[in-house]
Amino acid sequence: METQVIRIDPDDIDAAAISRAGEILRSGGLVAFPTETVYGLGGDALNPDSSRKIYAAKGRPSDNPLIVHIADLEHLPAITRGFPTAAGRLAEACWPGPLTMILKKSDAVPPETTGGLDTVAVRMPSHPVAAALIAAEGGYIAAPSANVSGRPSPTKASHVIEDLSGRIDMIIDGGDTDIGLESTIVDFTEDIPVILRPGYISRRMLEDVLGAVRVDPGIREGADAERVRPKAPGMKYRHYAPRAELFIVEGAPGDVAAKINSLAAAAAAEGRRTGVIASEETRGNYAADTVYAVGSREDELAIARHLFGVLRQFDDDGVDVIYSESFNTPEIGAAIMNRLLKAAGHRVITA
Ligand code: AMP
Ligand code: MG
Repeated sequence: METQVIRIDPDDIDAAAISRAGEILRSGGLVAFPTETVYGLGGDALNPDSSRKIYAAKGRPSDNPLIVHIADLEHLPAITRGFPTAAGRLAEACWPGPLTMILKKSDAVPPETTGGLDTVAVRMPSHPVAAALIAAEGGYIAAPSANVSGRPSPTKASHVIEDLSGRIDMIIDGGDTDIGLESTIVDFTEDIPVILRPGYISRRMLEDVLGAVRVDPGIREGADAERVRPKAPGMKYRHYAPRAELFIVEGAPGDVAAKINSLAAAAAAEGRRTGVIASEETRGNYAADTVYAVGSREDELAIARHLFGVLRQFDDDGVDVIYSESFNTPEIGAAIMNRLLKAAGHRVITA
């Protein structure tokens, strides 16, 4: 299949191009598009064939459900059964934005889209290209991240081209994504809302709106996650992994640099190419084949924005082993570390 790549300026949306993309979706095709979190791989959420195609294009296990993207709250009742008051308050506070809610699904949503579950994940993205595309499609776009299953999520159109060119109908290049981590997922089918995936909308922000919030044990159990029955099926799969082996090194900053340098020297002595993930402040402390700074420790948004791109960059560099600093930043550190720990297969070394 030939994949069309088109460029759409988010500040000056080409209505004719969006309408062509919407037509592809309505006729059962797949279009990758930018959102404020990461690039999504979109299909018609109400068409089981489209969802099957999404799984096939990504090589994604079919029990890992998709998120349905809407652009208008009026479209919510058709795909859900009931909308708890608390969910309404959160929608008011966070939509459009990087928040996904798990709700009971209506019969309009085929089981192919929800991995066979009787719940549906719904998000209303704020990216203008995403919003325009959803409207052009007619209201409901199922979209997981637009990467091959297991690889870091795409934050640039070039990442999508790398992974999905030849497998989908169209890729819309709308520039780099702003947040760089996938949406926060909150489950509203329990008595107390449960965070299934941390993201830019932090636990504190959720508690401000909702009061009590629980965190799914699967998020924190780390290497034991397989033993906890995951609520979100996707939580059990390996994610975001670069081709190299990745280790997180934790401890006092000076100790971390010393430990990473000695590990990197030992790996280099075995003939392996080494990489380091550092911050702007500490990048100069390292000796390795490739050292990338994800951002300043003073700017956690920059760290989030660059993380997946840096993980992909190591693949291009042909690095064999990567050592990363830890990034437990105040507000979205939980989300950053969730992705980094998964990418590392939860391998953590204490300096
Ligand atoms: P991705 O779009 O790649 O970020 O993946 C979507 C994530 O949403 C996966 O981790 C899913 O497990 C999760 N998800 C989607 N639908 C549901 C649902 N009905 N219940 C729980 N988690 C869901
Ligand atoms: Mg994904």
